[in-house]
Amino acid sequence: MIPDTFSCSPSLMTSVSKTDPPEAQKAAVEETMKYLAKPDIEIYTDGSAMDGIDYLGGGISIRYPNGEKESMSIAAERHGSSFRAEAMALTTALRWIDEGKKCGNLLILTGSQALVRKLEGGAGKSISELENETWRLIYRVARRNNTRLHIQWIPGHCGVDGNEEADRLANQGQMLDQFDTAINFASAKNAVRKHVLKTLRCNEKSPILQQYLYSTGAADSKACLTCGASPDNLDHVLKECPTGAPYRDSLPENPRDALWTDLVRVVEFLRAYYRILVAPIV
Ligand SMILES: [Zn+2]
Repeated sequence: MIPDTFSCSPSLMTSVSKTDPPEAQKAAVEETMKYLAKPDIEIYTDGSAMDGIDYLGGGISIRYPNGEKESMSIAAERHGSSFRAEAMALTTALRWIDEGKKCGNLLILTGSQALVRKLEGGAGKSISELENETWRLIYRVARRNNTRLHIQWIPGHCGVDGNEEADRLANQGQMLDQFDTAINFASAKNAVRKHVLKTLRCNEKSPILQQYLYSTGAADSKACLTCGASPDNLDHVLKECPTGAPYRDSLPENPRDALWTDLVRVVEFLRAYYRILVAPIV
């Protein structure tokens, strides 16, 4: 059973969206904070990742009612996701509370709505080691005497001071030495996949596409070198170009989606296609 001294909320009193002006979002945060029990410690957490996958950093900004502050930057992981960086920042904040035996009304404000939604699902839904650790800490903290713990989502980049500072601290965390930080399997798999896509340039900026070369000034025409159809873009290569026809049987029906679900088959196809492209030159 989750202790009833723990609560979390992925929404504000007044709903806001990313497209609302920052002042309106900030006002909604301030309104919500008025309704929450006055915290003895207020902790803002934020996570960031370079290009969304590399060098994860976490930032934790701790505020006391007397105006005193503490801050932490952590190197989260070498590869992962922004979500994971956010989760690691939250877990670090919980560990700080747990190890320091902090009591009273504890309020953690995170910029990750997805993370709070996940927490709402309860401990039974947790699948990773990190999530188990998060829940273990939530239980330990919330079961303490005279302690209430609330985790609240707030929108980022809308001028809430603690959130802005956590954001800066997370960016600093990215720069820290990542040598000893752990890599979890799912993150590693995802990072490898993204790396392969980037290396092979399985996107509209691939150097095998005349449309791209034309846009950079490196080709005189957008037309396909082998069949003459125009423009020569990713859809043309994956779906239409007759030059690729002998190998297209192995491709899934929607090759673009398959870049994520069946990457190996798309790569095999492109490899065959590249070979034909370079054959006349060699
Ligand atoms: Zn063609």
